Amino acid sequence: MSGYRAAWVVPIDRAPIRHGWVETSNGRIVDLGEGVPVGPSVDLGDVALLPGLVNAHTHIELSYLHHRVPAAEQFVDWIRGVVAMRRQHGDASEPAILMAARQAIADAARFGTALVGDISNTLLTPALLCESSMHGVVFDEIIRFNSGDAAAVVADACRAIDAVPQTPDVRVSLAAHAPYSVAPSVFREIVHAAGRRGMPISVHLSESRAESEFIREGTGPWRQFLDDVGAWNPEWTPPGTTPVAYLDSLGFLGPQSLVVHGVQMSGDDLARLCQRHATLVTSPRSNLHTGAGTPPVAAFYASGVRVAVGTDSLASTEDMNVFSELATLRRLAPGVAASRLLESATRSGADALGFEADYGTLTRGKRARILAVSLPGALTDVEEYLVGGIEPAQLHWVE
Ligand SMILES: [Zn+2]
Repeated sequence: MSGYRAAWVVPIDRAPIRHGWVETSNGRIVDLGEGVPVGPSVDLGDVALLPGLVNAHTHIELSYLHHRVPAAEQFVDWIRGVVAMRRQHGDASEPAILMAARQAIADAARFGTALVGDISNTLLTPALLCESSMHGVVFDEIIRFNSGDAAAVVADACRAIDAVPQTPDVRVSLAAHAPYSVAPSVFREIVHAAGRRGMPISVHLSESRAESEFIREGTGPWRQFLDDVGAWNPEWTPPGTTPVAYLDSLGFLGPQSLVVHGVQMSGDDLARLCQRHATLVTSPRSNLHTGAGTPPVAAFYASGVRVAVGTDSLASTEDMNVFSELATLRRLAPGVAASRLLESATRSGADALGFEADYGTLTRGKRARILAVSLPGALTDVEEYLVGGIEPAQLHWVE
């Protein structure tokens, strides 16, 4: 049994505790409270103890593209840049790609992240996560607009994910890339396959204006892109709705869905996500870099939808620091309570990824993956401080 005292304990599922303590045993939280625990304890001083953060959307295998894909005015142009870079680096087992991915996992831990939702096209990352202290879900992302036999496409993906290393702490599921790159029949098959496995699913949704145009009218830069890469399906007809309404009509939105970006979502779209108990993952720094635009963060929170946070890949963001993502959210939505932003970076992501028994809050029985953040003395609002931008030098893991 170990006990820790701190200036603040921030459990997330209740108000911050001034002069609090946490007791742990065998890697689990035994109890926490105010004052001094009954057993022996170490005083950690002017720190806040909080649960390890959750980065609910990243692409660890793209870490080698850091600073290699310039910022774009238009999202489609940014994607063209990524595709060109990936073609140049064919084989994902190239040592440089592996090295950058391992470094990104180590950096994410150094920045306070305990759990990730990771998108992969190569299934390189499950093995890398298994050899690290980082836990999470790797989503094998399907990109298939010209569907062919959708059931066979998804069955192949299921065989691929069954063949990679995984543990109860590193799970592997399926994702659809986006409404403009995945056929409707493939979306349906992904829902069925993940449902049978009881696993979460993910999709990039309502990211760019071009996506909204394509789903509404079937025209614009995405149509051009599909023609250019030979993936256009002449049988596909534009649904004439918003991307959110479209995926809802395919049964893709539910409590198991992590819907990423939402930059272009309307109030009706957000209300629909809320109704379906889906989770919206926001990555504001990436949106600003890729030309997707500024996400309506205040509207996300006002809608009541569950909001989680992701850094997105190092191809479109500066670093794997979820605290920096929080600082950007704070800047974009000064009126949202700091407690809600913190919940997005912890409990909301953990719950959405299916790790609610282990991560997301400091609660009896959960893992003692506890982060200590150094604080300036005489702090009155610890939650506001934590969303203001925290540097790695201020962080250490308690155990
Ligand atoms: Zn992404």
